[in-house]
Amino acid sequence: MPQRMQLGDAKAAEIKAVSIGKTFGAFRALKDLSLDIGRGEFLTLLGPSGSGKTTFLMILAGFTAPSEGRLMMDGRDITDVPAEDRSYGMVFQGYALFPHLTVEQNIAFPLKVRGRSAADIKRRVGEMVERVGLIGHEKKLPAKLSGGQQQRVALARALAFEPSVLLLDEPFSALDKNLREMMQEEVKRLHQETGTTFVFVTHDQSEALALSSRVAIFNHGELLQVGRPQDVYERPENRFVAEFLGEINLLPLDALRLDGDSAAGQFEDRTIVLARTNPQIGPKAVAAVRPEHMTIAAAPQNAGHNAIACRVEDATYLGAVTRYHLKTRTGASIAVSMPTVATPPFAHRADVWVSWPVEQGFLLPHQT
Ligand code: ATP
Repeated sequence: MPQRMQLGDAKAAEIKAVSIGKTFGAFRALKDLSLDIGRGEFLTLLGPSGSGKTTFLMILAGFTAPSEGRLMMDGRDITDVPAEDRSYGMVFQGYALFPHLTVEQNIAFPLKVRGRSAADIKRRVGEMVERVGLIGHEKKLPAKLSGGQQQRVALARALAFEPSVLLLDEPFSALDKNLREMMQEEVKRLHQETGTTFVFVTHDQSEALALSSRVAIFNHGELLQVGRPQDVYERPENRFVAEFLGEINLLPLDALRLDGDSAAGQFEDRTIVLARTNPQIGPKAVAAVRPEHMTIAAAPQNAGHNAIACRVEDATYLGAVTRYHLKTRTGASIAVSMPTVATPPFAHRADVWVSWPVEQGFLLPHQT
C-alpha cells in the first residue's frame, strides 16, 4: 500500500482560508470567511460564545468539512485532506490526556504513532518534559497532577512531533486566574521557541491581546476584523469590535464634517475633533474614546477641543488606576480611568472637565 502523505511536517505552515462557509441544517455557523494565517504567526480567534470560533478551528483541523470555500496550506488545497494526514498538534480545554498513561508515555504517544525510533522518542520526550517544566513528574499518572501540570503535559504532547500548526481551543478556561496567567506566559514562550504557527481560540479579550501576533474577531459566524492587538484595540472598525475589546465611550456627533484625515462634529455644545481612520464612515457617526485616554481636570485641556463639562458621579479605587463614572450636562455617561498615583482624587459631585487628545479619538458608525 502506498504510504499516505503526511502534511504538517514542515517547521511552520502558512494557511489560507478562502470564502469558508458552514451550515448545520438551516443554520449558518460561518459566513464567507476569508483569512490568511502567516507562517509562524500566533493568531487568536476571539468572539462571544456561539460566534463560530470552534467551528472554524475544527475546519482547520480537518474534523469538520466546510460547506463552502477552500482551505490552502503552503499553497496546496487541503480542503479534503483528512485530519490524521494534516498532522496538526492540538490542545483542548479538557486536557484529553490518556488517564492510564504516565506523563512520559502521554508525550511519547504521538511519536510512537508516527513510528519514531525508541532513541528518538526518549530524546524528544526528555526535551519536552524539560521545556514545559515537568522534570521529576515523568512517571506520574495524569490524576496525580494539578490542572496546570496536566495542561503542560497536553502542550508537550501536542508539540512533541514538531507539528507545523498547533491548534488550541480555550486551553486555559478551566484554570484559576494566576495559573491561567502563568500558562499564558508558557504558551507565549513555547511559540517563540518552536516558531510553529499557533491558532488559539478564546472568548477572553485580555488573553487574546496578551498572546497574539494578530487577533481575528468573530461575531455571528462572521469575521469582523483581523489585526495586531494594538490595531484592533485602538482602531476598531465597528462598534462590536470596539465594545467587545474593552470599555469605550461613544458620543453621538451632530453636524459631522469630514475633511481628509480628520473629522469634526458637535457633542452637546462642544466641538469634537477626531482622526478619521476609517474613510467608509459618515455622515452619521459616533466619537469613540477609551476611558484610559481621557483625563479629568478642573479646566478644559487641549485648547478647548475635545473637552466636555461633566459631574463626578462615582470614583472606584482599583489600585493602579481609579475609575470615574461621570455624567455630562445632558445626562450622558462617561467612564474615565486614570492612574491613581498621578491624579488627586476628584470629589463626588465635583464639576470637572473631561478631555482627550485629538489622536486618541476615532469615528465609528452610528449603528452597531
Ligand atoms: P464557544 O465559545 O461557546 O465554544 P464558538 O464561538 O466556538 O462558541 P461554535 O462552537 O463554533 O461557537 O458554534 C457556532 C454555532 O454553530 C453555535 O450556534 C452552535 O450551536 C452551532 N453548532 C456548532 N456545531 C454544531 C453542530 N454540530 N450541529 C449544529 N449546530 C452546531
